[in-house]
Amino acid sequence: MGGRPALGIPLAVTEPRATPPFLLRDPARARALVDFLHRHAPPEMVRIVHVCGTHEMTIAENGLRSLLPSGVEVLEGPGCPVCVTPTVDLDRAVKIAERGAIVCTFGDMTRVPGTRVTLAEARAQGADVRVVLSAADAVVVARKNPDRDVVFFAVGFETTAPGTAAVLLDDPPPNFSVLCSHKLIPAALDALMATPPTRIAGFLAPGHVSTVIGAAAYRAVAARHHVPIVVAGFEPLDILYAIALVLRQVREGRAEVENGYPRAVSEEGNLRAQELLAMAFAPCDAVWRGIGRIPGSGLNIRDELARHDARHAFSVQAEEGEDKPPGCLCSEVLLARAVPTDCPLFRDPCTPLSPVGPCMVGSEGACSVWYRYGERPHL
Ligand code: SF4
Repeated sequence: MGGRPALGIPLAVTEPRATPPFLLRDPARARALVDFLHRHAPPEMVRIVHVCGTHEMTIAENGLRSLLPSGVEVLEGPGCPVCVTPTVDLDRAVKIAERGAIVCTFGDMTRVPGTRVTLAEARAQGADVRVVLSAADAVVVARKNPDRDVVFFAVGFETTAPGTAAVLLDDPPPNFSVLCSHKLIPAALDALMATPPTRIAGFLAPGHVSTVIGAAAYRAVAARHHVPIVVAGFEPLDILYAIALVLRQVREGRAEVENGYPRAVSEEGNLRAQELLAMAFAPCDAVWRGIGRIPGSGLNIRDELARHDARHAFSVQAEEGEDKPPGCLCSEVLLARAVPTDCPLFRDPCTPLSPVGPCMVGSEGACSVWYRYGERPHL
């Protein structure tokens, strides 16, 4: 994690576990961190990108952008798993549901547009689409319906993928399968840095993903692209502290991985969760909505578990379709090149109740967050 103490930066919430909870919302520490940011902001424009809907909610809900120096901007990249799930996977899920299987998935996924219909619209037309909170819930549905095929449409990053792996490895019933659309965060950071024009000065890495993969998982990306990466927690002070660490690296010309969330994230991560992932899945190339195909950024179910792979069980074909409606700027938002208010469709007609693009559908999507918290450019 760079091996450097956080000298010069007001200590925020970096003490592992011993930090009393009230310090997480300490105004004096917040003021000290903001002072630090203003005193140490580099003279050039600095764009910091996070890839986490929860980070965006913390930033927006607490007005953190209004506290930043004028040359520092923080944007959400492809941090919403619902938003980055491509139409080709959605279309497969719809086709499987239309063939009579029970399709289980997370609530937001039922509202994301596919090429023809959403899963919610398929349900309105008679398909059996159910909202669950986890892969384990979908197994319960399968056990209760032994005469029906039950498919869990699995989306999400390294945070949710171990839960899917655990279910696959726990001898699920024969009528249960997984349509796997899990994605991997380090590969996405790699792709953002490799997609010109690159104006990203540093990343905030998502704390929950990092609890699984460990801070060390970002080291190759930081070195390959000479870009600072700081693991960040979810409290306002966590975010301000992580931004301070990025700015310090920028000023000092360093590009290292630093852990700004040591009370939850270790260097090596959760080895048992990583073991489950390796047993159930093999890395594969994957299509991200609005971004395209990213090498090594997805997870395929291993051949040994193919009997529970919905792609084999149903062999439905789907074409890579149009990932965003005309006029929608989701691609630019997901690539951290635009903010939601840059889109002419923001708010009229695109709202969470009648979303035009995927970034307004997922509750963690940047457009949805900005709409809910007031759509101010410097929120
Ligand atoms: S406001 Fe709507 S249409 Fe515009 S980028 Fe966001 S989701 Fe797409």
